[in-house]
Amino acid sequence: MNDTDARHLRRAFALAQQARDRGDRPFAAIVIAGDGTVLTEGMSTQGSSGDGTLAHSEMNACQAVVKAGIPREVLAGATIYSSGEPCAMCSAAIFYTGIGRSVYGLSNDAVLALRNATPATAGLSLSCRAVMASAANPPVVEGPCLEEEAAVPHRGYWPAP
Ligand SMILES: [Zn+2]
Repeated sequence: MNDTDARHLRRAFALAQQARDRGDRPFAAIVIAGDGTVLTEGMSTQGSSGDGTLAHSEMNACQAVVKAGIPREVLAGATIYSSGEPCAMCSAAIFYTGIGRSVYGLSNDAVLALRNATPATAGLSLSCRAVMASAANPPVVEGPCLEEEAAVPHRGYWPAP
């Protein structure tokens, strides 16, 4: 992770806070092209869209770059910055979208701890790296990064167990 990565991650953390402030879950993901162009900024819309299942921030970001017609070669050189480790569904979406690199803030374990998750509410435990490692041409994965800053939008958000 370099200074540019840190700047983009901090933008994702700020957007995660915005998502929370508007009634969504505190997650965001942005896609940045290799030349620094912002291709999309995605937030969780699990609350506002009424889609509590698929509207994760990475899913929204991946769908946005596909709908925008961003060429595959641009996506191959792009990075998706996620405020939290992409879940198995989102990791697969990142792979199928053809985004070449994934950088995230909070680890899945850290997210589960912040969520006060129990075994019954923990969801999928397969890591982003495990999903990507199964790919024929795996995206580069970096994380966790800046976890203390990444945790801020989550503080006081999740109900106690
Ligand atoms: Zn997800």
